[in-house]
Amino acid sequence: MSSETIFDKIINGEVPADIVYEDDISIAFKDVNPQAPIHILIIPKKPIATINDITEDDRELVGHLYVVAGRIAVQHGFAKDGYRTVMNCNQDGGQSVFHIHLHLLAGTTMGWPPF
Ligand code: IMP
Repeated sequence: MSSETIFDKIINGEVPADIVYEDDISIAFKDVNPQAPIHILIIPKKPIATINDITEDDRELVGHLYVVAGRIAVQHGFAKDGYRTVMNCNQDGGQSVFHIHLHLLAGTTMGWPPF
């Protein structure tokens, strides 16, 4: 299950994005519809539709998304204050783009639970 999404178009430059980080296997850019003062999406360049489609081969790749999240938090100065990472899955999880992405939310004190 892997059809092209808006994120593939961002990866290949067809759709513009406010990119804050990029390396060989991942890219991070600002969310167009931010849910917090800082809202960045960190995605693998490999198209994986949902968390359910992650395999053992993707271990390093998925771990890398968290390494990138931590780096961005330090670089943007909110590591110490804190932040939230979220990866939604399918309908009940609120997923709307079927290319896995880590939401990195910061810049305010967040509540819990999220419903
Ligand atoms: P999901 O609901 O967890 O799948 O998150 C998808 C996110 O992608 C949402 O927060 C959208 O605002 C965001 N989004 C959709 N299209 C774009 C885009 O073209 N650029 C940046 N963010 C986008």
